[in-house]
Amino acid sequence: MIQPNLPDSKLPRVVIVGGGFAGINLAKSLRRAAVQVVLLDRNNYHLFQPLLYQVATAGLEPDSIAFPLRGIFKKQANFHFRMAEVKAVDAANNTLETNIGDISYDYLVLAMGSNTNFFGNKLIEEHAIGMKSLIEAVQIRNYVLKQFEESLLITDEAAIRPKLNFVMVGAGPTGVELAGAFAELRKYILPKDYPELPIHLMDVYLIEAGPRVLAGMSEVTSEKTRAALEHIGVKVLTNVAVKDYDGLTLTLGNGETLQTQSLIWAAGVKVCRSRGCRKRQCFPTDAYTLMISTSSKTRKTFTPSATSP
Ligand SMILES: Cc1cc2nc3c(=O)[nH]c(=O)nc-3n(C[C@H](O)[C@H](O)[C@H](O)COP(=O)(O)OP(=O)(O)OC[C@H]3O[C@@H](n4cnc5c(N)ncnc54)[C@H](O)[C@@H]3O)c2cc1C
Repeated sequence: MIQPNLPDSKLPRVVIVGGGFAGINLAKSLRRAAVQVVLLDRNNYHLFQPLLYQVATAGLEPDSIAFPLRGIFKKQANFHFRMAEVKAVDAANNTLETNIGDISYDYLVLAMGSNTNFFGNKLIEEHAIGMKSLIEAVQIRNYVLKQFEESLLITDEAAIRPKLNFVMVGAGPTGVELAGAFAELRKYILPKDYPELPIHLMDVYLIEAGPRVLAGMSEVTSEKTRAALEHIGVKVLTNVAVKDYDGLTLTLGNGETLQTQSLIWAAGVKVCRSRGCRKRQCFPTDAYTLMISTSSKTRKTFTPSATSP
């Protein structure tokens, strides 16, 4: 039977779930604290998400953006890592239910990041690809290369177009970066790597329900970004939402349709939660210097600047 096999310690145990930027920075900041730090993540690597789009468009290898968590902490004596998927929080008993067995904690920090939000549209979820994990980025890369290979094997233009139409939904930073990378792929890489590919049949779309790209940034940035994308051939559609997608036909809110076999969904994220974790009991990790037990009965405050004996 597998079990976490964490060493016994007289020190309070701080369990951090999630080895993203939040989790690793917190774990590092506790290196001199009189605590046992246990980091749990379903993967044994830290993923540098800002460069996922480069992996998706074959500009970088996956191992260039994935860093072994054990390597990051090899000099931290109070640190323990277990590759584990957290299933539920039992706040009453200060215990986590995981796929490697139960793990008790004195202090718990949930830093599980976010996941793709399909806003309840099951059909889109089934056929589109998100871009939040390394697996998804590699999936996009393999899928895209497959579309190029298959396009070379057919002559019917109507059949080639959906294979070479690449649609990004959501013009936030992820959608913008990806659309730009696809347009650059078409301009600089494909003529060399796929000289026989009918590149004039390839289109890159960026579709946004709101009135402008990069809505979180200034209007000037937004306008410049749109102009730069259009300059390299991205078809930017704003004020139009994607309503449905069945794997081939994409239907827009205005009734128009597009044929594509590649829909990349970058239109929103939702927070990752565990069963048993009530909103009131979840404390975000941006409060790096203060951790509070999730159990309201045993709520404790703790300053990690306290040094080990
Ligand atoms: C494509 C893309 C591009 C981006 N570009 C930028 C950028 O240019 N600049 C910028 O500032 N930000 C960017 N971001 C956002 C940035 O990456 C995130 O804000 C940041 O990663 C959030 O860090 P985090 O630690 O909260 O979560 P994450 O980095 O998502 O880490 C969460 C961790 O929790 C683990 N986890 C989740 N659930 C469980 C569970 N149940 N059990 C065990 N482990 C679990 C996951 O495996 C993951 O390792 C980008 C994001 C994406 C997706």
